Amino acid sequence: MLNKKTVDDLKDIAGKKVLVRCDFNVPLKQGVIQNYKRIDAALPTIKKLLSEKAKIILCSHMGKPKGEPLPELSLAPVAVALSERLGVQVKFADDPKVTSDATKKMAAELKDGEVLLLQNTRYRKEETKLEKDETAIKFAEELAALCDNEIFVNDAFGTAHRAHCSNVGVTKFVKEAAAGYLVEKELKFLGDALNAPVKPFLAILGGAKVSDKINVIENLLSKVDSIIIGGAMAYTFLKAQGYKTGKSLVEEDKLDLAKDLLKKAESKGVKFLLPVDHVIATAVDFETKSVPAGATVKNTDGLDIEDGFMGVDAGPKSIAKFSEVVKAAKTIVWNGPLGIFEVAEFSVGTVEIAKLVAEATKGGAISVVGGGDSVSAVKKASVDKEITHVSTGGGASLEFLEGKELPGIAALPTK
Ligand code: AMP
Repeated sequence: MLNKKTVDDLKDIAGKKVLVRCDFNVPLKQGVIQNYKRIDAALPTIKKLLSEKAKIILCSHMGKPKGEPLPELSLAPVAVALSERLGVQVKFADDPKVTSDATKKMAAELKDGEVLLLQNTRYRKEETKLEKDETAIKFAEELAALCDNEIFVNDAFGTAHRAHCSNVGVTKFVKEAAAGYLVEKELKFLGDALNAPVKPFLAILGGAKVSDKINVIENLLSKVDSIIIGGAMAYTFLKAQGYKTGKSLVEEDKLDLAKDLLKKAESKGVKFLLPVDHVIATAVDFETKSVPAGATVKNTDGLDIEDGFMGVDAGPKSIAKFSEVVKAAKTIVWNGPLGIFEVAEFSVGTVEIAKLVAEATKGGAISVVGGGDSVSAVKKASVDKEITHVSTGGGASLEFLEGKELPGIAALPTK
């Protein structure tokens, strides 16, 4: 990635209009922003353009309005938050069509060092149809026209794995395009971890389904020294090895694949660590994220899970075993929780791993955490500040770990 043009390569931008694709897809509750991380992560690029006296036009999607101008998914609260943080009045084009005449006028009248935020790009159904509907490209053309077809900066890592009008389409209609600082940072940390890791390199993968992470496991097996598998994924691997898994979430159709992956790990000399004991429960209420009254929760002694119980977290022996590998690692990539961590009683394994990763980082390891749930887990363990890099893109970081080229990045020119 570092061969891609970045905002630092843009020259003489004073007075020019720059369209910046940000990821302002923040969690909202009744119009109130619940978490400002993504807004804060966009500030370095915006501040740089402000200091250069550009005319800045920001755009982003918010949620999935699917072409409907849903008021609850308006970017209006983001304009307020940006104004507070930047110390300049960010103008907001509250336009259900995003690029209508009133917005064009606001963009045309921008003065040097002023900032305009467009409305939710997904208010236009074409936004996500770039690859499916050839008329969608017109929306990209309209967006680019707002910046006089001059300069486009992509700083939305969270949508880099999608080819949409506002991140890929626009690049066809501007004179210059570049990556913003956030995209640059994300790709540096993820890229260095994957392509030039300090050894030993450990991957920790958890979450619900093996099927979601097959490509990640396959790609990482040729790069890592060790891999820890936790969460429900582990039970498919354990069942494939002949252990009893009770009523744990097992993907029966992935048992052969799990055997293949275990063989591949062995042939490549990769240490493949699975839990050696479990917290098990007779029932979990996924709606209320709690243990229902009357349910039994206990620890197993070993690997087998008795009938009527499901595995819900890694047990203490597993954590002790994993801790040796985490402590020795010099590069750690983590995606996915080790148990049903949304339920307080079953979050221990995930939180312990978060603490261990933070400790290893203090000892000099590089740690990269991606995926919404692992990011919540490091916050829950109050160690998010101690991790080398917490990715802002769940899906994008996962596709990066799969070794895929991200269309939002591929569309940017090289230096
Ligand atoms: P993912 O999006 O694939 O990273 O999966 C995250 C989800 O996996 C979380 O909602 C967890 O509750 C869930 N998960 C983790 N461990 C288990 C488990 N043992 N049984 C069921 N779900 C789990």
